[in-house]
Amino acid sequence: MTVTPEILTGGPTLPQERRLVTALPGPRTAELQARKSAAVATGVGVTMPVYAAAAGGGVVVDVDGNSLIDLGSGIAVTTLGNADPAVAAAVADQVARFTHTCFMITGYEGYVEVAERLNRLTPGEHDKRTALFNSGAEAVENAIKIARVATKKQAVVAFDHAYHGRTNLTMSLTAKSMPYKSGFGPFAGEVYRAPMSYPYRDGLSGPEAAKAALLQIEKQVGADNLAAIIIEPIQGEGGFIVPAPGFLAELSAWCTANGVVFIADEIQTGFARTGAMFACEHDGVVPDLITTAKGIAGGLPLAAVTGRAEIMDATHVGGLGGTYGGNPVACAAALAALDAFEHGGLIERARQIETIAVERLTAAKAADPRIGEVRGRGAMIAIELVDPTTGEPDAKLTAAVAKAAHAEGVIILTCGTYGNVIRLLPPLSIPDHLLVEGLDVLLAGLARH
Ligand SMILES: *Cc1c(COP(=O)(O)O)cnc(C)c1O
Repeated sequence: MTVTPEILTGGPTLPQERRLVTALPGPRTAELQARKSAAVATGVGVTMPVYAAAAGGGVVVDVDGNSLIDLGSGIAVTTLGNADPAVAAAVADQVARFTHTCFMITGYEGYVEVAERLNRLTPGEHDKRTALFNSGAEAVENAIKIARVATKKQAVVAFDHAYHGRTNLTMSLTAKSMPYKSGFGPFAGEVYRAPMSYPYRDGLSGPEAAKAALLQIEKQVGADNLAAIIIEPIQGEGGFIVPAPGFLAELSAWCTANGVVFIADEIQTGFARTGAMFACEHDGVVPDLITTAKGIAGGLPLAAVTGRAEIMDATHVGGLGGTYGGNPVACAAALAALDAFEHGGLIERARQIETIAVERLTAAKAADPRIGEVRGRGAMIAIELVDPTTGEPDAKLTAAVAKAAHAEGVIILTCGTYGNVIRLLPPLSIPDHLLVEGLDVLLAGLARH
């Protein structure tokens, strides 16, 4: 039976199959691509030759009726699965009651409840406060504002390969020029960069890498000037780089000893994605502030800064906010999503996905030296592709393998400073058979190149 896109409803009841009924792009998608080129700014790129009609479980169905395996989750956002029924019901209910008041004018319970839940779910038993925003970049900006007010210092340190967003301050924190920063300067002042622990390339232990980073920070910035260190516990866009054990803990301890705010940017790693509620739990680190977004609300735009009450409350009344921050519809979605993260067995599911993916990818690595490393945690797993003789990053091969997977109906994303990392971010609702099929398509494409 051919399913016409018009009658499709998304969510987990969509047929869980890879099914191509046209070449990609299909004719309706091609029409939309032409309209996009004429109407949408060129700077906004679209990776896949696909325009979505419905999505759920582990598939995205396009406007031509092609059903693709989703190994990207819209960049780690639909962790729960697209159009999750509980999220959809919570959104429908809230939309029918009220859609906006502006929390800074008249409050509502959903905002307060999201804050209470985040205060409870994030690492550490200390007294916490939360503020809500619209996007990850906005949360990062606000975390820096808060750290500066609380410490009365200005400098901020970010790391090599870091990604923190596309606004002016967050571009400044982001490491990679192309495509995120190139031509968009001048950038914000008082932002400094330190070396990241990258075990595959630097060969250093966590404490050794931390020592090098802290020496550089002490010499080039000085703790007396430093408000905050911001770091992704596992780097996302930068290449799914998992720092060596002990790196994060040493940085965090140094921050505590030196009156510097330690900010964990868990926008990509948060909410069960890595097989823990938050990735810094793997390293036993309790951040002072934590930024969240992406997976928090089942696909609706919401972001948060959560952290120590004495730091969060250092800001004067009225100093934080925004028209839409903590929108009631997004909060309703987040409460449904947080229920699932807490009680839905998703941490366990992320670990199962890790087992399946790592087993297959490690077997492939043993047979193919172009896979330099298999790394990541939970449902955040990557392979780094290299020239086997020199170890040099192979971005060309990476792009070709991604393109081959796309043509066969598998949504996969690349990342990495050197563009040579294929990253897997499947929704946790993906059935095993689709995960395995997606990996098989990916690896067959690699074998052909
Ligand atoms: C995506 C991302 C951001 C930016 O979030 P937006 O919602 O796109 O503004 C910041 N930090 C990390 C680690 C991210 O992955």
